[in-house]
Amino acid sequence: MPHTADWSPPALRGSDDARFPIRHAWCVGRNYAEHAREMGADPKAGTPIFFTKPATALTQAATVPFPPATEELHHEVELVALLGQGGRNLDAAAGLSCVVGWAVGCDLTRRDVQARAKQAGHPWALAKGFDASGPMGRWASAEDWMPQPTTAIRLAVNGIPRQQAVLGDMIWPVGELIARLSHEVTLHPGDVLFTGTPAGVGVLEVGDRVEARIDGLPALDFEIVAPGI
Ligand code: MN
Repeated sequence: MPHTADWSPPALRGSDDARFPIRHAWCVGRNYAEHAREMGADPKAGTPIFFTKPATALTQAATVPFPPATEELHHEVELVALLGQGGRNLDAAAGLSCVVGWAVGCDLTRRDVQARAKQAGHPWALAKGFDASGPMGRWASAEDWMPQPTTAIRLAVNGIPRQQAVLGDMIWPVGELIARLSHEVTLHPGDVLFTGTPAGVGVLEVGDRVEARIDGLPALDFEIVAPGI
C-alpha cells in the first residue's frame, strides 16, 4: 500500500514533555571491551567505528514491530547523548559541553544481516537503520544528570537480566567520542549519539518485553510485536 507524504520532523520527548527535534542519529560500535570480545573483535585495536541510523528510526512508542528480512533481531542497550550545540574539530571537554540531554536507547540490530555485510565488506546501513530500530526513553536535561563511571546500565527481557555494566566500562568516554566524530563531520544541534553497548547482546522474539535502564534516567520499556500488514 502506498504511503502519503504525511512526514514531519521527528522529535524526542523529555521527562518534562519538552521536545528535542532530531537532525541525525550517530552511533558507535564496540565501545565496551567485553562486547567487542563477544563480537570477535580486539577491544584494544583501532579507533571508534561510527555508523548512523535515520532520525526517523528513533521511536518512543511502547511497541516495536518485528522487522522484516531477519531471523536474528538483537537488543543493544545504550546511553544516548542529545547535542544542543555542534561544531568541528572539538576537544573532549568541548564535545561533552555540547550535550544538553541524556536518554536510554536501544540500538536494535538485524544481526544476521550485519554478519553477512561484515563478511562481504558491505555497509551496515540496513542491519542498523530499519524502521523503529532506535527505541528511546524520555530524556533528562544535562543540568539534572551526568554520566558517572559507577552509573549502572542494564537490560532485561521478560524480567531476565541480559546486559549489565557500568558507564565507566566505556573504552572511549562520551566527550572523546563526540570529539573524534567532530573531526570527521560537522556536528549540529539536533544530532544524537548512541554511545555503544556492553556485553550480553541477544535475540528478541515477538512478545518479548524489553526493560532498559540507566540509573537516574527515565526508563525505556517496549514490547516486540508482530509486523504490521
Ligand atoms: Mn550499538
